Amino acid sequence: MDGNLDAVVIGGGITGAGVVRDLALRGLRCVLLEKGRAGRQTTAASTHLIHGGLRYLLYDRLTTQTTCWDSGNIVRIAKGLPTRLPIVWPVYRGHKHGLETVETLLESYDSMQPMKLGRPHLRLSAEETLRLIPALAPDGLLGSLIFDEWWVDPVGLVNANLDSARKNGAEIRENAKVASFNRDGAAVTGVTLEDGSTIRSRLVINASGPWVERIADLAGLKVPMRLQRGTHLVYPPLDMLKVSGVPLGLLLEAEGGDRYVFVVPLGNETFVGPTDIPFNGDPDELKPTEDEVAYLYRSAKRYLPLPERRTGTVIGARPILGQAGSEKLLSREYEVVDHEARDRVSGFITIAGGKLSDFRLMAQDAGDLSSRKLGKGGPCRTHLERFDGSSVGEIPYYAPPPRALKKFLRRHPRLRELHALGHLGWQFAGHFGRKALGGCPSATLDDFKKNYGDA
Ligand SMILES: Cc1cc2nc3c(=O)[nH]c(=O)nc-3n(C[C@H](O)[C@H](O)[C@H](O)COP(=O)(O)OP(=O)(O)OC[C@H]3O[C@@H](n4cnc5c(N)ncnc54)[C@H](O)[C@@H]3O)c2cc1C
Repeated sequence: MDGNLDAVVIGGGITGAGVVRDLALRGLRCVLLEKGRAGRQTTAASTHLIHGGLRYLLYDRLTTQTTCWDSGNIVRIAKGLPTRLPIVWPVYRGHKHGLETVETLLESYDSMQPMKLGRPHLRLSAEETLRLIPALAPDGLLGSLIFDEWWVDPVGLVNANLDSARKNGAEIRENAKVASFNRDGAAVTGVTLEDGSTIRSRLVINASGPWVERIADLAGLKVPMRLQRGTHLVYPPLDMLKVSGVPLGLLLEAEGGDRYVFVVPLGNETFVGPTDIPFNGDPDELKPTEDEVAYLYRSAKRYLPLPERRTGTVIGARPILGQAGSEKLLSREYEVVDHEARDRVSGFITIAGGKLSDFRLMAQDAGDLSSRKLGKGGPCRTHLERFDGSSVGEIPYYAPPPRALKKFLRRHPRLRELHALGHLGWQFAGHFGRKALGGCPSATLDDFKKNYGDA
């Protein structure tokens, strides 16, 4: 396909796959180019969770809200692909966040859970927690909180997007590395691949995750990123994390008390991680260090008899937008950059940042801008049509976060944190009010089975 091509999408991770599906469903003629195999880079190295991002409630509440909203869309269109995963957050004596703080956080999350078809949290005593997971270390255990997220095979999710795009006329090319941009004066007119072949297109969309900065550089443009690398240890499936056949995840306070690690036992493996470490190198050269592997092992081993032997490690770099502020407050927001408006280079768009959990919304924004620029293409349909082509039907309405506030807070990390903590302060007062009136009862193993028996 060439000649009258509307768009070339660079990158076959979840971002590019979402974008090419969006464009194809609008009736635009497009090609996706992936230098290796689709979905096998950052996307495959993720924790595999479609989630709102519980921890962002502490400093970036509106991102959690947006991501919960789009997670709901993803779960609806990918019917059958995501699996509900109950996650147990055990709290021990000496932990940085005590039971009341953790429950407050989850009460705040409960208000967003319906957007992503999640269920209200449960609180378990230490005894009930050990009935649920007898393998958990008993010493110092005060109790636990349980919430749920969606687990998905990320490569399967990428392929579902690509299949849908193909059915709607797109071409997907793997092992097709973009080496340079073709220009006509200030305008980008297409790309040249490593094998020397060229593709002409009215638009080129850079959706290359952690490579975004490098691809923009090929066009002589700057899109600063702050990559954070993350490693997981991989183990075989762990039977100790199953209750009546339902797999359970864990969220554990890591060594040092400043971070948390997940244990996610789904698919053919169990992931333990991730780490979160600044990375300034080449995303093609990522390698876990012995220190981070040992840190993850020690962090999980304190609570769980992990086997000595693991099957491997996976590593990826989070494609986080370049931004001011401390590492702990990095926003997971995304941005669609119109290089014509910003840099006077027409025919070129970059989509950067974001998460697996809001890839559809990212693609929608990139698709809206593309169809405006091209002057053709229908409205976004990615939330209305499932991957199998059937209609999603009625979609419940939830108000999105105010755009202006979101934009303002993005530029002010401290205010963003205050905005989030202010909410939690109110929630905390409400929590203690309810507790004083006897309104925060502990649940039992039977309640767990009732809540998640059909997970
Ligand atoms: C450790 C870790 C855990 C995470 N956990 C979660 C989670 O549980 N939930 C969640 O929502 N998010 C999670 N994330 C974030 C999420 O994984 C990423 O935001 C998302 O996968 C990025 O997808 P992408 O398509 O932008 O990047 P990628 O998946 O890296 O795709 C970019 C693609 O571009 C291709 N490419 C690069 N250069 C070229 C070129 N020159 N020509 C052609 N192709 C090229 C690459 O080969 C690659 O396949 C996690 C991230 C990490 C690192």
